[in-house]
Amino acid sequence: MDTLISKCKSVKKPLVVAGCVPQGSKDLKELEGVSIVGVQQIDRVVEVVEETLKGHEVRLLNRKTLPALDLPKVRKNKFVEILPINVGCLGACTYCKTKHARGHLGSYTVDSLVGRVKSVVDDGVKEIWLSSEDSGAYGRDIGVNLPILLNAIVTALPSNGSTMLRIGMTNPPYILEHLKEIAHILRHPCVYSFLHVPVQSGSDAILTAMNREYTVGEFRR
Ligand code: SF4
Repeated sequence: MDTLISKCKSVKKPLVVAGCVPQGSKDLKELEGVSIVGVQQIDRVVEVVEETLKGHEVRLLNRKTLPALDLPKVRKNKFVEILPINVGCLGACTYCKTKHARGHLGSYTVDSLVGRVKSVVDDGVKEIWLSSEDSGAYGRDIGVNLPILLNAIVTALPSNGSTMLRIGMTNPPYILEHLKEIAHILRHPCVYSFLHVPVQSGSDAILTAMNREYTVGEFRR
C-alpha cells in the first residue's frame, strides 16, 4: 500500500485509499495528504472521488448503519456476485487489523439477502459468492444463523442449477454448532461442496496465543 501511495504521490495523481487499514489506522503517516474512505462509508465513494478530483482531502471514517446491499456496482466478472452477509465478527484474534476496522458483528437480515439474491439472478449472475469475516457467526446478533440463511437462499435460486452458491470463509468455533445442517446444504445441487476454513496454526499453544478460540482437534473435526 505504501508503495502504491508513494507512486501516485510522485506523479501527482489524486488518490483515494479505502479498506481496513485506513479505517483502523487513520493516523499512519503514509496516509497524510490522501483521501480516505472507511469500510462503512463506501456508499459515499462517488462524493469522495469528486471532492478529491477538485483537490480536496476527504476523510470519511464514521461508523453508521450497514451499507445498502444494492449499491450500484461494476462487477470484475459479470457472472459473479460477491455478496457480504455481515460486517465484523465476534472474534478478538490478537494479530488482527480487520477487527479494528470492521468491529463487532453486524448481520444483514435473511430477507434483505434473499432479495438481493433474487435481483442478481435476474441480472444474469451465474455464481454468488457469500463473503464474511466469519460466516459461521452470521446472524448471532439478530437471532438467526447460517443454516437458516442458506436454506432461504437456495430456495431463491433457479432449480436447474444455472446459478451456483459458494459459502464464504468461516472459522471453526461457530460453524461447529451447525455441522449437520451445513453438510446437508453442501450436498444441495446449487451449492458448491466447498468450505474455506483457515487453519492459522497446527499448535494449540499458538492458537491460544492468537486467541483463535479453537484447538487443533476442533479444526480436524
Ligand atoms: S475472526 Fe477474523 S476478522 Fe475477526 S478478529 Fe479473528 S481474524 Fe480478525
